[in-house]
Amino acid sequence: MKECLLCETRLTASLSWKSLLGMDKQALICTKCLGQFQRINIKENTGFSQVASLYSYNEAMRNYLHQFKFLQDVALAGVFANELRRYLPKEATIVPIPMHPEKLAARTFAHVDEVLKYADIPFVHLLEKTGTESMGEKSKKERLAMDPLFKLRQHSTINPNAFYILIDDIYTTGTTLRHAVTVLKEAGAKRIEAVTLIRAKRQL
Ligand SMILES: [Zn+2]
Repeated sequence: MKECLLCETRLTASLSWKSLLGMDKQALICTKCLGQFQRINIKENTGFSQVASLYSYNEAMRNYLHQFKFLQDVALAGVFANELRRYLPKEATIVPIPMHPEKLAARTFAHVDEVLKYADIPFVHLLEKTGTESMGEKSKKERLAMDPLFKLRQHSTINPNAFYILIDDIYTTGTTLRHAVTVLKEAGAKRIEAVTLIRAKRQL
């Protein structure tokens, strides 16, 4: 018998028609834990692109992210897999926001990639990080304002007719996505949207 990955309560198997047809993966967390996440449906035109977010950043989500990203509990990648797969249009080319190699080494896995892999969503890495992560907070802020955060990956080609969707875990200020959209646009992409799992409140 499986246990909920968050509270360790025993999971009772629920057989929906979707799970019988193999469309949905088995639940990894219990319904009580699932109920603590707040599903939202935000699709906002930010000025640089449409950004959609699936969940709000509440206490449950904060704990989930901590366990997934910082305690490196890779099994948690699957918690929102069904929801994300249902949401993303099949015809879109999915482009994850990349991690800096230094950060990737520290975290051991790219959490956004792991979510997509678990959900069987094909994706392509078109972007790579520029600069280093290990700069101080102040210089990092200054750098955010000026220098590009990403560049097009070597040997990547952009299809002007493709529909690109950038994927990131959390939308906060929009700086990351804005930079990523700019790089793809300059490389010739015409239609770009973004989807994040979580929408954080703007820090004013
Ligand atoms: Zn639970």
